[in-house]
Amino acid sequence: MTTQHMSPSAEPDVLIIGAGLTGLTAATCLIASGQTVKILEASSTIGGRIQSVTDPTAGSYLGDLGPTWIWPDAQRLAAAWIAKLDLETFQQYDSGEAIVERDQHSAPIRYSLLGMHDSTRIVGGPKAITDRLAGALPQNTIATNSPATSITITSEGVEVTTSNPDLSTLRAKRVVVTIPLRIAADTISWQPVLPDRLLATMRSTPTWMAAQAKAVAIYDRPFWRENGLSGRLASQVGPLVEAHDHSGRDGTPAALFGFIGWPHEMRRKAGDQLDEFVLEQLARCFGDEARQPLNLQIEDWSGNQHICAKLDLSEPPEHPQSVPAIIQQPLGDDQVYFAVAETAPISPGLIEGAFAAGESVAIKITRGAPHAGSHPSG
Ligand SMILES: Cc1cc2nc3c(=O)[nH]c(=O)nc-3n(C[C@H](O)[C@H](O)[C@H](O)COP(=O)(O)OP(=O)(O)OC[C@H]3O[C@@H](n4cnc5c(N)ncnc54)[C@H](O)[C@@H]3O)c2cc1C
Repeated sequence: MTTQHMSPSAEPDVLIIGAGLTGLTAATCLIASGQTVKILEASSTIGGRIQSVTDPTAGSYLGDLGPTWIWPDAQRLAAAWIAKLDLETFQQYDSGEAIVERDQHSAPIRYSLLGMHDSTRIVGGPKAITDRLAGALPQNTIATNSPATSITITSEGVEVTTSNPDLSTLRAKRVVVTIPLRIAADTISWQPVLPDRLLATMRSTPTWMAAQAKAVAIYDRPFWRENGLSGRLASQVGPLVEAHDHSGRDGTPAALFGFIGWPHEMRRKAGDQLDEFVLEQLARCFGDEARQPLNLQIEDWSGNQHICAKLDLSEPPEHPQSVPAIIQQPLGDDQVYFAVAETAPISPGLIEGAFAAGESVAIKITRGAPHAGSHPSG
């Protein structure tokens, strides 16, 4: 996916803030319904929480630094989008025994753990979804490195400023804000100012996984499988609290991934040594070969200013509940909408939630439009 540049004079029907899965889904549906769309993305890449490890020489996908699974038996909308985008899936590898670490004083033990049923991976990772959606948008739809800094609602339309000096002020009939609600409340200057009750609701909505950190280790072969191990780890010792086989569909590239359970302050304090702590634990649990990955990458989402707000750092992680009606109501004269995975009526905070949020905001905007296109949910 190449970085795209937007023409400064563009005045679309709908300006979308954020090129995560929700923003890309909304853009896809709105364009299918005949609307013109532009997207402002704060960071240098699209995808938001969907990011991956790539091969440093070939540039190919190796593993997921953000989400990994969908659960298609329960998530019919996600399954429909995956089918529409012509992406292939495979079951999470879970054959063999897991490793359990109960405490610092006892050695890791082999154990039969249940519970990965229906956890499904996408060939090429969730990045394949965002790449495919972005790749099908008209050229120059997305401007990266363009954080929205203010949103002003007027009777003529909506004005958005960005700190990208090449774009400065953009105007559109409607704006869809597809960024985490806490980030929208605290980093964008609103005119007129947002009502207190709305601001309070936005600030009280946690962003799923925003303060987490994930480690992905790539190996030359999935050696743990040869020892009858599934690659799954459950640990009370850490730094990883859980880990899983993260190899490609045919075992290549071979990989393990894990969630780091240490709080963000502890991770920061560990600095570069965190890599060593992770490798030491992998070696303790899966054998010495685990100490020598071809590549180890740790993504600490708590340091991402476009995803993780101060409140996400100070509160225990909480799965988002269904979002109060006040967030679902557009501002102005149906001019500004909020849509991010956490606002979704189904699977809030998840990949399916992002599809649902993007799709439903597009339906709201095009409701009654003569050329409204069909969406996977029918
Ligand atoms: C480690 C991790 C593991 C996860 N595991 C799973 C999983 O296994 N299964 C699952 O279903 N879900 C999982 N999730 C959740 C899933 O990633 C999210 O639900 C989904 O990616 C959210 O997409 P989104 O577009 O709604 O929001 P985001 O991905 O947060 O996108 C928001 C975008 O807005 C941009 N932005 C922010 N501020 C501005 C601004 N001022 N101007 C312009 N752009 C801005 C951001 O840079 C970002 O690109 C996981 C998330 C993480 C972090």
